[in-house]
Amino acid sequence: MNVYDSVRMNDCLAPMGYKASNTYEDADLVILNTCHIREKAEDKVYSELGRIRQEKIKKSAKGEQMLIAVGGCVGQAEGEEIIRRAPYVDIVLGPQSYHQLPEMVTRAIREKGGVVELDFPTVQKFDLLPESTTSQGVSAFLSIQEGCDKFCSFCVVPYTRGAEYSRKMDTVEQEARRMVDQGTMEITLLGQNVNAYHGDNTDGTTASLADLIDRLARINGLERIRYMTSHPKDMSDDLIAIHGSEPKLMPFLHLPVQSGSDTVLKRMNRKHEASFYIDIIERLRKVRPDIAFSSDFIVGFPGETDKEFDETMKMVEQVQYAQAYSFKYSPRPGTPAAMDDQQVPEELKDERLQRLQSLLRHQQTTYNASCIGMTMTVLLDRDGKFDGQLLGKTPYMQSLHVQDAENYRGKLVDVRIIGSTLNSVSAEIINPTVHHRKAS
Ligand code: SAH
Ligand code: SF4
Repeated sequence: MNVYDSVRMNDCLAPMGYKASNTYEDADLVILNTCHIREKAEDKVYSELGRIRQEKIKKSAKGEQMLIAVGGCVGQAEGEEIIRRAPYVDIVLGPQSYHQLPEMVTRAIREKGGVVELDFPTVQKFDLLPESTTSQGVSAFLSIQEGCDKFCSFCVVPYTRGAEYSRKMDTVEQEARRMVDQGTMEITLLGQNVNAYHGDNTDGTTASLADLIDRLARINGLERIRYMTSHPKDMSDDLIAIHGSEPKLMPFLHLPVQSGSDTVLKRMNRKHEASFYIDIIERLRKVRPDIAFSSDFIVGFPGETDKEFDETMKMVEQVQYAQAYSFKYSPRPGTPAAMDDQQVPEELKDERLQRLQSLLRHQQTTYNASCIGMTMTVLLDRDGKFDGQLLGKTPYMQSLHVQDAENYRGKLVDVRIIGSTLNSVSAEIINPTVHHRKAS
């Protein structure tokens, strides 16, 4: 979502004459778009700021100005504290305020810094943002939902991103059509809790995520749809069903479960049991037998016993993931779990994380290897490290690379998988099946 937000910040600043730069020397304004989800992400902000400060000093020695802004969830959570700790920062803004960037930049130039904007506006920022003019390329992100009302006991999102909000179905469709006109073939719909989407429809009804996917799938030229991140409780019947009926919806789902233990899930306030999650996985496999799954896991949640951790390991064995993310529990200020006095010692968290990650790595390696010999259509969206190499994602969200493919950049092509490692698969093009974009 921060990638998408950064694109939209770019759109906001374009009318003032700003455009994106790859170097600090060229930059009149540096915006650090930050993440607050775990302590490690937050720590990185201050070390990165130290580096950017050196660049600011170099520029000012040459008599040039460089404004520094801190945006995103660390901005929201820390506010004025950032300017206290790093007085060379000129602007601090939260994720709900970036439509106000032009005004803040103007004020920062006039008032020589110290501009902080953290309000959750009553008018949604999406209604105040200019139309996006920045093409994200053939594969693009589109935010449809923001914020969260679930209040899992470990998570800062409801405090930093605010209450759950869905954009109107029409607005989302218009933005998707503009993206497709700019060359996008794959859209990933984004939200902190994307499957809680309930957007207003023009006829006064409320649209679900499945309704929105159905609508977007009718856009000629849009070939692939994905969405993330979902909560198991919001995997509604229509959303499960559309995985079986809509070929443009890719056969991959990132569905975080966090823990396989009912007692931990309860303490996490996840509002469901392990068997509920397994049931969703089974129902999805019934309608789309080749669907691949990914998840997030937290190990060492306060009070997690050996037995509770083993239940997570058992769940992983049962589901068989294609990939997954796993993290050590990180206490976040202001969240209920951070106040729990049963914190798990760091060494035990490390040990559990290693065990879990070794199992997940094994599953991912096995999954990637099981694809060798399969043919599939992939979107080659980026250049690889080597001459003539292109990169892309398989329908199952594996990273893929193809040699001698320079003519297929930005195209959907049929490939055969010929090799695999833990992190990627390699493929050869099956000559010469390029899927051309249909005119929209
Ligand atoms: N809305 C999604 C998750 C968004 S946060 C969901 O409900 O699953 C992304 C991931 O960061 C979470 O799935 C969780 O695994 C991890 N995470 C969030 N807070 C954390 C914390 N305090 N410590 C460790 N990991 C955390
Ligand atoms: Fe955080 Fe996700 Fe829980 Fe919302 S549903 S509080 S974003 S982990």
